[in-house]
Amino acid sequence: MELEKDIPRVQDHKLAAAATTASSSASIEADMLTCPLCLNLVCQPITVPCGHTFCRVCLYMAMQRSKKKCPNCRAVCHVEPASHAVNVMLAQIAQKCFPKQYEQRLLESKQEQEKFESTSPIFFYNNCLFPGCLLHLHLFEQRYRHMINRCVSSNRKFIYLPNFTDYKAKTGDVGLLAYIDECEFLPDGRALLKATIQKRVKVTNTWVEEGTQGLHYCQFHPYVEEDKTVDEEELNAVHKQVNGLFNHVPGLKDQIVHHIGKQPPLTNPVLWSFWLAAFVTMVSRSGVQSMSLLKTTKTSERLKQSKRLLSQVSLPGRNNRNSGQAAAEPMAE
Ligand SMILES: [Zn+2]
Ligand SMILES: [Zn+2]
Repeated sequence: MELEKDIPRVQDHKLAAAATTASSSASIEADMLTCPLCLNLVCQPITVPCGHTFCRVCLYMAMQRSKKKCPNCRAVCHVEPASHAVNVMLAQIAQKCFPKQYEQRLLESKQEQEKFESTSPIFFYNNCLFPGCLLHLHLFEQRYRHMINRCVSSNRKFIYLPNFTDYKAKTGDVGLLAYIDECEFLPDGRALLKATIQKRVKVTNTWVEEGTQGLHYCQFHPYVEEDKTVDEEELNAVHKQVNGLFNHVPGLKDQIVHHIGKQPPLTNPVLWSFWLAAFVTMVSRSGVQSMSLLKTTKTSERLKQSKRLLSQVSLPGRNNRNSGQAAAEPMAE
């Protein structure tokens, strides 16, 4: 389908090349400037070490699937398409020979890139996290090994999807966009990674990727815009409550910092409310209840709900000395 749609454009730049041939003996053949992946005029060309050249977007997508290999000749290729320099001379030639087509290709590639950037593999876990949270994972399942390999060779992002039932995604689910800060591959293929949760997203489409032993993918939109209105008094009251807990329960603060990250400043109430929600989720071990905290689009509502959950928590050192440690850090199944 894609190919059929693309044929007229291929013809376009080939016809234009034919016209150039008529007027100049040292002309550029259209085939010389055709990307072997999309069969269109090459756009933002990237030349990999084996000498093959592709559009940046085409290479980006191809390398998601065949990690560290040239999509044309399979030679080893350690190129990072998102940041690799464009072959400037070739780009200038393409632009000069086919100005109209090149402009069109730039537009298309921008759209493709946007679409691509809103598509990510999914990591399911039965715990709720929030923007700003740290995430430590030990990945050993085959599908997540595929995921991490693809992520580190592309934009380092994946969707963390809290799920308490079937580890399946559906349209409308709330997920969290995670960015991989550090990743260590163990000799047997397992991976240890540190990631940061960036923001909430809404799943708009989902599928299982072939040949990945069950790796789910989704397309997503930004989440609903937040109503940031807060009652300062309420904010200060919860803040006091949390710091009171830190004073009462030895070691709690360090544990929290280790698991979800430092407490953000109160001058950023939205971020602080997410941190609070993560804190409450952890100390109350209330993953499922926390889903409503995750879905809240009002900062004030998140504060209110968190406060309510917090008042029900029994912590070691407070009123239940034997309730043990707070939740362990997530590990893949
Ligand atoms: Zn291409
Ligand atoms: Zn090659």
